[in-house]
Amino acid sequence: MAEALLQVRDLHGWYGESHILHGMSFEVARGEVVTLLGRNGAGKTTTMRAVMGMLPKRAGSVRFQGRELISLKSNQIARAGIAICPEERGIFASLSVRENLMLPPRVKDGGLEVEEIYRLFPNLRERSASQGTKLSGGEQQMLAIARILRTGAELLLLDEPTEGLAPVIVQQIGNTIRMLRQNGFTIVLVEQNFHFAATVADRHYVVEHGHVIDMIPNAALEANREKLKTYLGV
Ligand code: ATP
Repeated sequence: MAEALLQVRDLHGWYGESHILHGMSFEVARGEVVTLLGRNGAGKTTTMRAVMGMLPKRAGSVRFQGRELISLKSNQIARAGIAICPEERGIFASLSVRENLMLPPRVKDGGLEVEEIYRLFPNLRERSASQGTKLSGGEQQMLAIARILRTGAELLLLDEPTEGLAPVIVQQIGNTIRMLRQNGFTIVLVEQNFHFAATVADRHYVVEHGHVIDMIPNAALEANREKLKTYLGV
């Protein structure tokens, strides 16, 4: 594997007294798309939040470009070059598409201007003046992903971008992820839908009870189908 851009080692995380992450370890090479797969409550979202510095209590090691981030705050982690697109999307309904795109601060050199984002997301340009409330679920998801490119992040953490979307829109999200990868972004994707995951990712980490129990290269997914069904309970 090429040099790891992100290296997570023995990561622990807590919500209050609840110990949720029990030694998560995984790594992501520059330019890869990697998924965290697992059942509801396995700790996938919590892992993303811990990497982003959004959990009040965490321990272990999160190295990004060789730099240790475990004790940094989320704004410092954003400046290091990581951005998260949360499951709830966080689109402001009363603001236009353009206004939503202008919200995230450009915390780092290389953060995209709105025009550059429109070049990557031509559909959003067409909807530029539309209010958040007027967008379909798929358009909102596109906007939520597009918006984090403002920050200048190189590593994008996408939390269940396909959730609740119709199959044809899920395909569009897949195209978006492949397009982002071609444009040099590295992506960690939380997914429940492994059929979708198989169309976009290089490797899959299976998460259970707050740690990684297996890693399956995408090319080996078919051969591991039965095992995976057991892991995911599908
Ligand atoms: P899902 O697909 O349901 O989001 P997940 O694998 O992402 O699953 P997490 O959301 O990371 O799972 O949740 C892991 C565990 O942490 C669950 O037991 C959940 O109940 C608990 N948890 C999540 N958020 C909180 C919170 N804010 N406070 C307390 N416990 C939480």
